[in-house]
Amino acid sequence: MAQVIRKVGIVGAGQMGNGIAQVCAIAGIPVVLNDVAPDRLKEALATINGNMAREISRQRLTEEDKQAALKRISTVDSYDGLSDCDIVIEAATEKEDVKRKIFTALCPSLKPDAIVASNTSSISITRLAASTDRPEKFIGIHFMNPVPRMELVELIRGIATADSTFETSKAFVSKLGKTIAVAEDFPAFIVNRILLPMINEAIYTLYEGVGNVEGIDTAMKLGAHHPMGPLELADFIGLDTCLSVMQVLHEGLADSKYRPCPLLVKYVEAGWLGKKTQRGFYDYRGPKPVPTR
Ligand code: NAD
Repeated sequence: MAQVIRKVGIVGAGQMGNGIAQVCAIAGIPVVLNDVAPDRLKEALATINGNMAREISRQRLTEEDKQAALKRISTVDSYDGLSDCDIVIEAATEKEDVKRKIFTALCPSLKPDAIVASNTSSISITRLAASTDRPEKFIGIHFMNPVPRMELVELIRGIATADSTFETSKAFVSKLGKTIAVAEDFPAFIVNRILLPMINEAIYTLYEGVGNVEGIDTAMKLGAHHPMGPLELADFIGLDTCLSVMQVLHEGLADSKYRPCPLLVKYVEAGWLGKKTQRGFYDYRGPKPVPTR
């Protein structure tokens, strides 16, 4: 039977964690944020505050609703602070070892019937579930970026995910006003299985000198009617996340067509991770983005 989600925990307060917190709070559900880096918690609250202020200026939210939503968000610096949550969503860095360590440390602090979800973009839900004490209560809930604006959430069941976990997660995601696409547990699921190879190909197009950053993005915006160019989109997602997803596809499907572009690897090695570090295929440090190639 489906449970009612009355309180949500989020581990990882980066761009996805703070977006998930925002939509939960606006939907009337109390939410507790946790991160290894205390600064990220402060930044997350400031980002949520700023996003909600923008929604007010666009007349999509009232000041009263904003204040009520902000009161529903709290932060904690240890997993014990998540002990009364009905669901905990992990939205930490896209690295399997990081996520596995989180689940091993997190589960002993949770209620026995709490659901544990991962917002992973690509990693096997079945494998992540195996690092918890509750594979039947584990599920992939994959929000899109930016969470408040994007309509879709992918739901991914692992091999052991119980029907009740799936039904509870479905009802919870619907309450957030999102539309669900159900994906099987294969590398990168649906959206990123299609989107990331396209982005990787755009980076190969740059690497081979077929076009420069501006040319490639303009070509895909005006020639294919994409709202953002693929390189701009890569910067927005985070180049580290793009690389991790390509590595999961490459290793998981053992097909050379998923080979991460060496130029993507180079940008990540330089710490040029896109918008979040102010530099990627564009340099964001000035008044307007400037292509880096
Ligand atoms: P991010 O780099 O903005 O945030 C990651 C956060 O995780 C950071 O604040 C970091 O301090 C925190 N973290 C790292 N180790 C931790 C630990 N042990 N315990 C607690 N927190 C920890 O990354 P993001 O873009 O928010 O991505 C988070 C997850 O969401 C990833 O799994 C990613 O694949 C997925 N995702 C990302 C996008 C996107 O477009 N960026 C879209 C959908 C899903």
